[in-house]
Amino acid sequence: MSSTGEYDCVVIGAGVQGSFTAYRLAENNQRTLLLEQFVLPHTRGSSHGQTRIIRKAYEQDFYTHMMEECYELWAQLEREAGVRLYRQTGLLVMGPENSQNYQLFKTTLERNKVPTVVLTRDNFSQHIPNFNLAEGDGAVVDITAGVLYADRALKTVQGQFQKLGGIIKDKEKVMDIKPGPVVTVSTSAGVYRTKRLVITAGPWANRLLSHTGLQLPLEVVKINVCYWKEKVPGSYDVKRRFPCFLLTEGEEADEHIYGLPSNEYPGLVKICYHMGSETDPDQRDKQTDRSDIDILQRYVARCLPGLIPEPAVVESCIYTLTPDRHFVLDRHPNHSNIVIGAGFSGHGFKFGPIIGKLLCELSLGEVPSYDLSPFRITRFQAKTKSAL
Ligand SMILES: Cc1cc2nc3c(=O)[nH]c(=O)nc-3n(C[C@H](O)[C@H](O)[C@H](O)COP(=O)(O)OP(=O)(O)OC[C@H]3O[C@@H](n4cnc5c(N)ncnc54)[C@H](O)[C@@H]3O)c2cc1C
Repeated sequence: MSSTGEYDCVVIGAGVQGSFTAYRLAENNQRTLLLEQFVLPHTRGSSHGQTRIIRKAYEQDFYTHMMEECYELWAQLEREAGVRLYRQTGLLVMGPENSQNYQLFKTTLERNKVPTVVLTRDNFSQHIPNFNLAEGDGAVVDITAGVLYADRALKTVQGQFQKLGGIIKDKEKVMDIKPGPVVTVSTSAGVYRTKRLVITAGPWANRLLSHTGLQLPLEVVKINVCYWKEKVPGSYDVKRRFPCFLLTEGEEADEHIYGLPSNEYPGLVKICYHMGSETDPDQRDKQTDRSDIDILQRYVARCLPGLIPEPAVVESCIYTLTPDRHFVLDRHPNHSNIVIGAGFSGHGFKFGPIIGKLLCELSLGEVPSYDLSPFRITRFQAKTKSAL
């Protein structure tokens, strides 16, 4: 039987960004419907898995500023729902001491007075055992950083949304969008009419946007999520205060390599390469390129002598990249009642609560709490095709 309904707002996509947006809209007394194409929870988009890194360490001040409030919003959600979503571990940032990238991280932390510890070659192994700091690399620890329990966070925010009267319909794929003062959203199971629409469809963003005459320059890549076995159980364990880490660039590659202490799978450390190969989100695992894993194997062999340099478990996830790696948080250029959150470029999870707040503000026509100029669609102007 097909369903119909009228809403103040419909949000498409129940990943981290859509779920937080729906929650904020419901908090603002909006009758809100959150639509998801798959049965929840699922592992096909970008928000699944046990853990994500949360940090203030960034190359740009605007992300560090947003994270100040974002930590408070995560803590507020923990209190409201009575669940633990964050564990402080610190984030070790490493990179060639004189490189622009490493210096940007370090100076942004300093300028924003984020509590840090700078490690020297002499005291490094005393603080971080079983890790080789490369010759010429600097090391600074963002003390505030840690791990977010991702799957638990998603379940929690969706639960809080429902407690506020929000409606989630999963296994309902959006097939068509008809823009207008009242937007008509047709799914595999029904038709809904809404004053406002938010599109947070992760790797499927452009498929949804094609119904509105817009295409963004997004690149969808598969990430191999690699877990590496400890030679001595417990040596990189979260309980032994092993931190998350991020290498800005290194001998093996130009993109970041990042890792999280052994936690979700006992004895296994998660280490990933911050890039993958282009994929179709509906055929994600057809893409079998392993060049990222080769890079990681060389890095693990060189810098993490306590790990077996071959991944024990490989899972899959998807990044949706913009050319400049900054998010898209904006109104549709031709339909002001359609708001878009897209292109989270492999670093959006930690921002979930603040993205939810900002997309809600945009949707309600309020002045956004932060300067959104780095996230506007107009920055792609030359490449953005507007068919309308
Ligand atoms: C391996 C990996 C590691 C990461 N590490 C970190 C990290 O340490 N820290 C950090 O901050 N971020 C990290 N990220 C990035 C972060 O996880 C993503 O930025 C974030 O999850 C993006 O969420 P989203 O809601 O935009 O997309 P998604 O989670 O993909 O959600 C989009 C949803 O829309 C649904 N959808 C799509 N089309 C339709 C349709 N037609 N009808 C209905 N529903 C539809 C999809 O099924 C999906 O559920 C990582 C990502 C990956 C892959």
